[in-house]
Amino acid sequence: MQQNDPNVTLITPSAPVATATHGGRAKCLQRLVRLELPVPKTVALSFDQVHRIASGELPNIGAMLEPFGNAPLLCVRPSSEDPDWGGPGSVLNIGMNDAVYIDLCDKLGQEAASAMYRRFVQSYAIHVARLDPDMFEDVTLEGSEGLSEVLRAYEDETEEVFPQDPAVQLAEVLRSMARAWEGTTARLLRQAKGAPADAGLGLVVQEMAMGMGRGECGSGVIQLVNSKTGEPQITGRYKSQSQGRDALSAGTEALYLERDPRGPSLQELAPQAFEELVAHTKLMRIRLREQMQAEFTIEDGKVHILDGVRVARSARAAVRITVSLAEDGIITKEEALLRIEPRAMNELLHRQVDPDAQRDPIAFGIAASPGAASGRIVFSAAEAQASAARDEACILVRRETSPEDIRGMHAAVAVLTERGGMTSHAAVIGRGMGLPCVVGASSLKFNLRNNVLTSQDGREFRAGDVITIDGTNGEVLAGEAPLQEATQDDAFLALMGWADELRDIGVRANADTPADAQTARNFNAQGIGLCRTEHMFFEADRLTVMREMIFADDSEDRRAALERLLPMQREDFVELFRIMQGQPVCIRLFDPPLHEFLPSDRAGHRELAEALDLPLSDVTRRVEALSEYNPMLGMRGVRLGITMPEIYEMQARAIFEATIAASRDGDPVVPEIMIPLVSAKREVELVKTRVDAVAVAVRNETGVEFEYRLGVMVETPRAALRAGEIAPQCSFLSFGTNDLTQMTYGLSRDDAGRFMSTYVQQGVYPEDPFHMLDTEGVGELLSIGASRAREAQSDLTLSICGEHGGNPESIAFCRAAGFDYVSCSPFRVPVARLAAAQLAVRDKMFGKSAN
Ligand code: PEP
Ligand code: MG
Repeated sequence: MQQNDPNVTLITPSAPVATATHGGRAKCLQRLVRLELPVPKTVALSFDQVHRIASGELPNIGAMLEPFGNAPLLCVRPSSEDPDWGGPGSVLNIGMNDAVYIDLCDKLGQEAASAMYRRFVQSYAIHVARLDPDMFEDVTLEGSEGLSEVLRAYEDETEEVFPQDPAVQLAEVLRSMARAWEGTTARLLRQAKGAPADAGLGLVVQEMAMGMGRGECGSGVIQLVNSKTGEPQITGRYKSQSQGRDALSAGTEALYLERDPRGPSLQELAPQAFEELVAHTKLMRIRLREQMQAEFTIEDGKVHILDGVRVARSARAAVRITVSLAEDGIITKEEALLRIEPRAMNELLHRQVDPDAQRDPIAFGIAASPGAASGRIVFSAAEAQASAARDEACILVRRETSPEDIRGMHAAVAVLTERGGMTSHAAVIGRGMGLPCVVGASSLKFNLRNNVLTSQDGREFRAGDVITIDGTNGEVLAGEAPLQEATQDDAFLALMGWADELRDIGVRANADTPADAQTARNFNAQGIGLCRTEHMFFEADRLTVMREMIFADDSEDRRAALERLLPMQREDFVELFRIMQGQPVCIRLFDPPLHEFLPSDRAGHRELAEALDLPLSDVTRRVEALSEYNPMLGMRGVRLGITMPEIYEMQARAIFEATIAASRDGDPVVPEIMIPLVSAKREVELVKTRVDAVAVAVRNETGVEFEYRLGVMVETPRAALRAGEIAPQCSFLSFGTNDLTQMTYGLSRDDAGRFMSTYVQQGVYPEDPFHMLDTEGVGELLSIGASRAREAQSDLTLSICGEHGGNPESIAFCRAAGFDYVSCSPFRVPVARLAAAQLAVRDKMFGKSAN
């Protein structure tokens, strides 16, 4: 064999082997060889070579066999660029024939030799001759008799004797593995895992280390950490008289590695081999800069390392493993940050369905708020509250949610809705509360008259039936699935600390209640970027006063209702300011699509009539008068503030009075007041004049000085285009990309769920634009708005507070556009902190274009 033929090369420390040309396994084996670990002799075949084999062009097999000496036994394993892309199964004991068998009976004993020959015949029959695997099921005999029967079955089926020439055997195995990789099913499977269409396969041909025979022989795997927690723990399995990954097969009686009270261990059986294995795996961690699992064979007491793979790990384990590598100085903090997928943080922040659990899916929807929970189905907020009072976990199932459901959402462990998208009410509130939520589950039939859910396979689920909501992947499961607890341990905190040291864009939280604010603080948000004040009035007692205010016929009645709302608002703000002491808090003035606050059915109207002491007909008439054809484009945001100025005046007063109160016993608070749904400069001027006047009045009344900042929420396309004339009126602009996306596409954020998956599947949109910022269209408006605003006023603070603020790709866009901070749901703050740090690290390591 040519020593320097890169296509068929003996793996030596300096051989031309690379992951991109020979695959990850070949490259890892070369690294192990460089560490002088006891790796059996191995030849690597490049992607090109394997591709040629698939099209019928074989390399010189005689030359390939040369390094292995006389009558070797070999195995062939796949080596794709990324181990997750899979590949054909390994074939062991190539070279086994009648002559070698006789020889091995002598050397290893008849039992071991028979088992090895039989294994090879069976896998050759299945992988190369493509015979039915079931045909060997009837062979119950063991040892040499079993072997004879298997050989006979092979010959009967193929009408050929089993090939005896090792060169023929090897050539056929190589050909079958190469062709298996090029098959359509295999290609589609790996493409689903992210492999490119032309991903190559390398193969490694390795000398067998006998796991069977005389003395202590066997095979197994070893790793130094627990795959679920990442804590140091020697784990793995070992089985005497076995080969390959036999020790891991289900039902196998394998040994523990380390001494274990539950049963015998390798440490007791072969202490020397055990020590060697631990030392080798430790060395791999240090030199390969990764926690590795070693596949090994013990041959008459002697250890061989056959392979090394990255330890499989949960998200929690990934963080601990990576942080400990950095703490031990094996990798840098920067590298550690880059190794963790920001979205994987969700697994640490919320309970998840145990990845090893059996799943029984009954529906799919939009994964609107991550985490998982099981409970009994309830169909109304009142039932949810009753369930909570009985201490019974429940899942609130609604066609869609509205402010009336808030108490039910608080009482439930998860929410499922038929309608809605990433920015619908249930989704936004669910994320804010950290409540698992699946919306737009239209594959499930919601019969809410009879309170029955019917899955596509015809199963029915009624009130009281237990289901599991997996808000991380959008699945609804039948029954109670085993869950894994959330953990934010010291490793998580260390990683987050490094992220904060390195990132260069701020991260705030969208928080409406003191509970949200506390979560934001716990996750180290740098302030509140959006407090949706209308959400503060979703609680039942407040909702009634709020409705009274909305229902008021004239300004006087409205003022009376507002006077009752004022102390509630003031107290809310005092609490928020105290929790966020020393941090900015951005309060958005009322932006209630009025329909969200009105009861939608007759029972609701009756309840309201009672609460307001009005005849039912008056309530119904008023609801009708207030109803709008298109409430999301109707009397919302600043339009309400202009037509009913008392509302914003009350809010400004509550903010200023709370500022004074909260500043009394701590750092002075500088509130930020944000005007929603602006589309014209004049709107800002009008509101600014009134807010300034309230500030003057409060200063005069109290004799206390305070500062505040006024800003505009850019969420209509016109506000983005006119940002140049709006900016000089204010000190900050925050892009509300939920509404901006809705208005740019002309796509209802509450109804998009019905067709979004079809649209994404058919490639109309690459992604749900409410989930991932549309950098081309909406993004262009952001860029135009940002540059026109900065041109007019260079020290303006720019930010994003739509749901996209917690999305890593969208954060990259905002950072590149020069934004000062992003603001997202409290539970997404850690994801955003890590994503932001990765952007800064990539710039530092690879230059600006890397993002
Ligand atoms: C937005 O529109 O992006 C936003 C943050 O406001 P809301 O979701 O409350 O409409
Ligand atoms: Mg909005």
